[in-house]
Amino acid sequence: MCAAKVIDGKKFAEGLRGRIATAIAGLKSDHDLEPGLAVVLVGEDPASQVYVRNKAKQTVEVGMKSVEHKLDASTSEADLLAVVEQLNNDPTIHGILVQLPLPDHIDENKVINSINPDKDVDGFHVINTGRLATGQDSLVPCTPVGSVMLAKDALGSLSGLEAVVIGRSNIVGKPVAQLLLQENCTVTIAHSRTKDLPGVVGRADLVIAAVGRAEMVKGDWLKPGACVIDVGINRIERDGKNRIVGDCDYEDCAKTAGSITPVPGGVGPMTIACLLHNTVHAACAIKGVPVPEM
Ligand code: NDP
Repeated sequence: MCAAKVIDGKKFAEGLRGRIATAIAGLKSDHDLEPGLAVVLVGEDPASQVYVRNKAKQTVEVGMKSVEHKLDASTSEADLLAVVEQLNNDPTIHGILVQLPLPDHIDENKVINSINPDKDVDGFHVINTGRLATGQDSLVPCTPVGSVMLAKDALGSLSGLEAVVIGRSNIVGKPVAQLLLQENCTVTIAHSRTKDLPGVVGRADLVIAAVGRAEMVKGDWLKPGACVIDVGINRIERDGKNRIVGDCDYEDCAKTAGSITPVPGGVGPMTIACLLHNTVHAACAIKGVPVPEM
């Protein structure tokens, strides 16, 4: 039985995209500003192709300019850097996203750090991670922003809460921990070497799981009433069917948690909505106009 409140990320993301569309209409009419997002895809990774298609579709739906660069898997690092440079210099483009992972012969850090930090809407450039860590205005990675938005929607103020983040990747774990610090949580970051993970998780009012291990977090690990934000996306086979599950055992955790995100339909839909949100922020900063309410 599910006692927990289900945090509906799909619905929240729809609402956010609606507010972004309204904001963009205002930017066009009041400031002659049409935010533009460019996505660069290298190779034919099927999951990346789906992400890029969804990003382009949602970009157009909110009224932004969408540009796609699809490059062959054998594209050289120099040629990819040249595409990024061209987008850095394009005044109609305010956000640049290079879809990861890149082929092995390309240095991911070099490419990410070649993006103009003011157009780095994924928030992975070392300047943006530094700005985030020092509490300066920055473009912040999309999945962490979306995760914290959902936690705030469920709990209201996060100030003073014990938060445990499971996972310390540069893409999710570390930036989400930084955002929670900014929200005045007491933050613990757990990882594969953490001793007594269930005991650590049991302290948390808020658990953010970004591990990549199907259904690892169990209900009896949780403090009763805890809010659980499950970032994990794991493909498994069950009862002869392919399924997508999170890092938390949903049915089990929902018995103890106060609120929980489902997978799919929780954090996942927030990522693209936050990418569009970041692109509006970047466009306003570049053009020097105030960021509208979204
Ligand atoms: P990474 O593989 O980069 O990082 C996983 C982290 O989990 C590492 O820090 C690792 O620790 C830790 N970890 C691994 N095993 C354990 C364990 N048994 N106990 C405790 N910690 C462990 O993954 P990402 O951060 O990129 O992604 C995490 C999950 O989130 C994935 O399922 C991914 O698909 C999903 N994801 C979802 C997104 C969305 O849009 N919803 C976007 C991005 C990711 P250590 O550092 O010690 O190795």
